[in-house]
Amino acid sequence: MSRTAIITGSSRGIGAQIALRLAQDGFNIALNDLNETMFENNDIAAQCRACKVEAEIFCADVSKYEACEELVKAVKERFGTIDVLVNNAGITRDGLTARMTEEQYDLVISVNQKSVFNLMKLAGNVMMRQKYGKIINVASVAGLYGNPGQINYAASKAAVIAMTKTVAKELGSRNINVNAIAPGFIETPMTDKLTPEQKAKMLEVIAMRRYGKVSEISGAVSFLASEDSSYITGQTLEISGGLAM
Ligand code: NAP
Repeated sequence: MSRTAIITGSSRGIGAQIALRLAQDGFNIALNDLNETMFENNDIAAQCRACKVEAEIFCADVSKYEACEELVKAVKERFGTIDVLVNNAGITRDGLTARMTEEQYDLVISVNQKSVFNLMKLAGNVMMRQKYGKIINVASVAGLYGNPGQINYAASKAAVIAMTKTVAKELGSRNINVNAIAPGFIETPMTDKLTPEQKAKMLEVIAMRRYGKVSEISGAVSFLASEDSSYITGQTLEISGGLAM
């Protein structure tokens, strides 16, 4: 039977590229985003199917526990197994701490952090029964080093790194690998929102003097979803072109 990967927030950006790469690797693909309309302006599902695998869209707000229960149930029914979970969905609501609203703080924590609990628990239970699984959480360099104007985002991503280590310790004996990646500045709609000044400032501190491409993230995820990484767990792989060393 073919293996199946769920990639959250995969209608665009890093998630869409990860979905395509895992389809090229031979996984059936469970695409996810908030609603169907987000897939209308792209052909990501068709691109995955062109890799001779099955691909289906499952809409769900992954910050909501009940929605995740339905998502995991539907993917299991459709594909039979859940072998890879990529917790990619994420948002920013930036602002200096002094000006950030409680709503901005809570929303980012629920989408970036709570979703990872929801799906590591629910898909993790499926993987435990299978005695096989690969969980890859998308954190950020902001979670490792902090970032002014991102107290909510940095907190959520630091939590994701700690949650990765925790669940790696809980599920290691069940043949489930749990790792995180911490991208730096990657060219996507999320980073398009930054001002030219912010973008220029970032470049000065990147050793490779360029921003990352989504394909440079999906390659690392492909490795962590493969058997080549079978003895790696609880780790956070920084993919930042040498942002901090
Ligand atoms: P993106 O282009 O904004 O894509 C994220 C996707 O997740 C969007 O389609 C978004 O939909 C979706 N999403 C948001 N909330 C969701 C929810 N509750 N349930 C399901 N889907 C939801 O972002 P990206 O740049 O590709 O980032 C992907 C991941 O990488 C994120 O976790 C981000 O924090 C992380 N990351 C990115 C960078 C970077 O430089 N781009 C750096 C470090 C880490 P909406 O459009 O409705 O929000």
